[in-house]
Amino acid sequence: MAHDALSDGLIDLLRRNDPAMAALMEKERQRQETTIELIASENHVSPAVMHTMGSWLTNKYAEGYPGARYYGGCEFHDQIEDLARERAKKLFGCRFANVQPHSGAQANMAVFMAVLKAGETFSSLLLKDGGHLSHGMSLNFSGVYFKPVFYPLHYDLAHPESERIDYDAARKLVREHRPKVLMCGYSAYPRTIDFARFRSIADEVGALLVADVAHIAGLCASGVHPSPFPHAHIVTTTTHKTLRGPRGGLILTNDEDLARKIDKAVFPGVQGGPLMHVIASKAVAFGEALRPEFRTYCERVVANARALAAALIRRGFRITTGGTDNHLMLVDLRAKSADLTGADAEKWLEAAGLICNKNGIPNDPRPPRVCSGIRLGTPAVTTRSMGPEQMDAIAGLIDRVLSGGGQADVLASVRAGVKELCAQFAMPGMAAPVEV
Ligand code: PLP
Repeated sequence: MAHDALSDGLIDLLRRNDPAMAALMEKERQRQETTIELIASENHVSPAVMHTMGSWLTNKYAEGYPGARYYGGCEFHDQIEDLARERAKKLFGCRFANVQPHSGAQANMAVFMAVLKAGETFSSLLLKDGGHLSHGMSLNFSGVYFKPVFYPLHYDLAHPESERIDYDAARKLVREHRPKVLMCGYSAYPRTIDFARFRSIADEVGALLVADVAHIAGLCASGVHPSPFPHAHIVTTTTHKTLRGPRGGLILTNDEDLARKIDKAVFPGVQGGPLMHVIASKAVAFGEALRPEFRTYCERVVANARALAAALIRRGFRITTGGTDNHLMLVDLRAKSADLTGADAEKWLEAAGLICNKNGIPNDPRPPRVCSGIRLGTPAVTTRSMGPEQMDAIAGLIDRVLSGGGQADVLASVRAGVKELCAQFAMPGMAAPVEV
């Protein structure tokens, strides 16, 4: 298989220096090339984003911020971080950016530290309804050190807004508990978020609105999903999902006072030295996202998600809320077969080369490890230049696996179909389609 020269050079280097690691990395590369990535939070980065991470920038300690570091030799790191910050601000249309959080959860932790004291109340969506563990799960810092009160979705399937955010119930809850922070933005929510409506709820009790757009960041940046600005006081995100950058976090705001508090909370609050190789890679990814092609990519992500959802519905699956407005969908497997669980579906699909994750559906009667749904997303397949025709083909492959009840011959035959599809749609940085 032909890959970009830097990747091939790395493998050659490792074959000589660390053959065990070279072998594992080659296996993983092949796994990615020959499977269809439907995990909604994953993507395939460009060679420029990838190789900036694997560079000499990793050698440097740069605690502090541009112009105020705790180590010498930071001249170019100051410029690198400034470039990342400037591009982030331009991309999201805001005044302040902190590009140092190591991850999305770290970004949220820093925001909590910046604006809440231990024991104070905040409001968010339940994890089991599509929220994130850093929004108040009992074992996470957010649930251990702070007090979450959760707003619900509509659970009544007969309701026209079923499985969507119940804004009126959120308003009632916020009036009752008067949280200091109201969070919106989710891990498994397929519909548009009404940031203005959330802001009006937050304003009723003087709460800060924090929008965690980790999943939809690329869509927000490109205008394919409404922007959280000017409504949110603070925006947190990951950089590695629809935004298609390196693994990492980002915090944005328009408020100077909040920006100061956030900078202090990131460093020295919750982190030490910034990952300068990752910050440089974030800058490269932001540069890519500022190009007009990125908007086209995001439009295709959503068109593909809609096509995949429609193709699954045609095959007898139920998609929660009846479809999707963004890059992801939740498939309620019980409509297909009452016995089918998310855990079995994830396992069988993986065996056939279709990679996704089991996911609870709203009001799921089964425990999270078993659950009744799978979450599917289209950022990665869209990066591979697949379109609606391939979404229909993928829905057909999923249907064959799940209707086949995990039978070995069905899995083998679908696996062959997956490899065939992958051979036609190279990952970024591959000079030629994969050989099957
Ligand atoms: N916030 C949301 C809404 C997420 O979906 C995620 C990750 O999936 C995170 C935060 C945490 O990101 P990370 O895994 O980088 O810590």
